[in-house]
Amino acid sequence: MAVRERIAAAIRDHHRRPQSVELLAVSKSQPAADIRAAYVAGQRRFGESYLQEALRKMAELDELAIEWHFIGRVQSNKTRAIAGAFDWVHGIDRLKTAQRLSDQRPEHRPPLNVCLQVNFGGETTKAGIGRHRLTELARAVSVLPRLRLRGLMALPEPATDPAAQRARFREVADAAERLRKAGIAIDTLSMGMSHDLEAAIAEGATMVRIGTAVFGERHDGGTGNLVHRGQ
Ligand SMILES: *Cc1c(COP(=O)(O)O)cnc(C)c1O
Repeated sequence: MAVRERIAAAIRDHHRRPQSVELLAVSKSQPAADIRAAYVAGQRRFGESYLQEALRKMAELDELAIEWHFIGRVQSNKTRAIAGAFDWVHGIDRLKTAQRLSDQRPEHRPPLNVCLQVNFGGETTKAGIGRHRLTELARAVSVLPRLRLRGLMALPEPATDPAAQRARFREVADAAERLRKAGIAIDTLSMGMSHDLEAAIAEGATMVRIGTAVFGERHDGGTGNLVHRGQ
């Protein structure tokens, strides 16, 4: 998989520890057969954004030991299904959502791994918690009994030059460092996508979320509906 080589090269170029960056293969709008093929090639972590589509594919791939990550927007009427089906949730930006996921995490499953989505760009239309409320939210989420706070997730706007791109990721890494100094143990920086994974790895990403560079272009017109290969 060429994207593994890109990750390995970025790790070398930026003097990161070998194996310190995990690949989350973003399989939204890709058919189950493609997930199965990536699994056979050794990939275990997959990210989905749309609940119904994800549940359908999970049922189809039930016998595989896949670690499923929910990376979409968490709507409150879907928390029960998400808490029941996923291993990780990346997009938490409100305590209420976190509380629901904790309350609804089934007893027989280990605590749900979660990342807080940050948004330091000041775009009010986008999901994500701002800098000033982050520590308070992290503290509150870290004590919820059925969640395990793992780190921060970011989806910064694309920048025109690499230095500006890195600066956006660096702000997220700095925020994670501040949380650690405040005594909140986290180990994950979920940041970097197909077009900016090098910049994210340069700034400390531990999990890159890669869709098109793994599976090729999506053919969903951005809606998340499966419209190709007979689905
Ligand atoms: C779709 C998506 C990705 C993957 O994007 P690519 O550009 O296809 O690599 C990563 N993170 C989130 C939150 C996404 O929705």
